[in-house]
Amino acid sequence: MKLRTLGSQDVRGKRVILRVTFDVHFNLQHGKRVVEDDARIKDAVPMIRELSTRGAKVILLSWLQRPKGKRVPEMDMTPVGERLEELLGTPVTKLDDCVGDDVRQQISRVPDGSVVLLENVRFHPGEKDEKTYDEVFAKELAANGDLFVNDAFGQSHRDVASISGIPKFLPSFAGQSLEREVRELSALLENPARPFVAVIGGAKISSKLGVIKQLLDKADALLLGGALANTILRAKNVQVGKSLIEEHMVEVAKELPLTDPRLHIPVDVITAKEPTSEASTRLTAVGRVEDDERILDIGPDTVRLFTSVLATAKTVMWNGPMGYFELDTFAKATDAIATFLATSTAKTVVGGGETIASLHRVGAAEKMSFTSMGGGAMLEFIEKGTLPGIEPLRLS
Ligand code: ADP
Ligand code: MG
Repeated sequence: MKLRTLGSQDVRGKRVILRVTFDVHFNLQHGKRVVEDDARIKDAVPMIRELSTRGAKVILLSWLQRPKGKRVPEMDMTPVGERLEELLGTPVTKLDDCVGDDVRQQISRVPDGSVVLLENVRFHPGEKDEKTYDEVFAKELAANGDLFVNDAFGQSHRDVASISGIPKFLPSFAGQSLEREVRELSALLENPARPFVAVIGGAKISSKLGVIKQLLDKADALLLGGALANTILRAKNVQVGKSLIEEHMVEVAKELPLTDPRLHIPVDVITAKEPTSEASTRLTAVGRVEDDERILDIGPDTVRLFTSVLATAKTVMWNGPMGYFELDTFAKATDAIATFLATSTAKTVVGGGETIASLHRVGAAEKMSFTSMGGGAMLEFIEKGTLPGIEPLRLS
């Protein structure tokens, strides 16, 4: 896939709307909201700096949390602007809205090279509904700029005004971070160094079924762990006690090629009666889980099986923890996979909010070849090979 990029075109004096993913969480410190994890803001800094250095007015646009179409003061962009100022080391002009005459006038008054942060686009109902986003609102957003650059890969699976609406009205380009995501993830689909081994875990099989099917087609081996493997075990008529499963997905899971030799599922598991750190745990073979037990991690034999397959890989993709890793007791398998991949010579591509958090537990995040900024977006891209926000930026 080839994307339209700004290249060396002259942007001096142009108003460039840069769509970013500043959808962060906050800590309260003395009653003040402070950005908890600034990875997404840091990710945007090189693109902001480049546009500013080239003399563009950089107009930043993003969601923040879920205000559902109305103004919610606790979800305004002020703390994001403050953090961005610290990271850039230059002033950021934070505006109180993202559309309207006032906004346009304020943009017209800032000098070339300025960085302007628009208010949370989700304060407006025109952004809210993905199915029927408001074209009039998209046009209003577009009126703030001369060019549009989408650098928000992590939100490009959303068919909303600020992602796929604005390109209907402005010349539109892929940003550096989005372009890198598309390059790295397309490589997995098009020409991975083989063997290509995928590891999928996490909570819900419903959100990953499409990806699992696609990987059964593209990968040389697929390793399934986490709660979603419980649903697969149920589909194989294995007793899983009180484990987290998706009942409505059991029949659907039966349609997967569950006996395909490339597909590996847990052979042993760690169980407990309750998902707490005090609960006593039991290691057992799959098929011997008691009615009052829950599967909360994959067992050491499964970890050995998975790492032996991973040891053969030249390319690895991982999304979804192997267990309920928020409690140390049930984080052992997830830690072991992360630690194993940290020393692997294979190309390692990892995505998903919780999966990346699990890499940080063992200091493995920096050791990966590529960590995706997209959770849902990465899964949908792997499943479909494109996203609604990427289609308008494609050259081929
Ligand atoms: P990501 O954010 O990396 O895409 P998911 O959101 O799909 O990952 O899933 C992560 C969640 O899955 C974690 O909160 C983890 O606790 C949960 N999980 C994984 N395995 C189990 C399990 N066996 N039982 C309960 N929860 C689990
Ligand atoms: Mg998650």
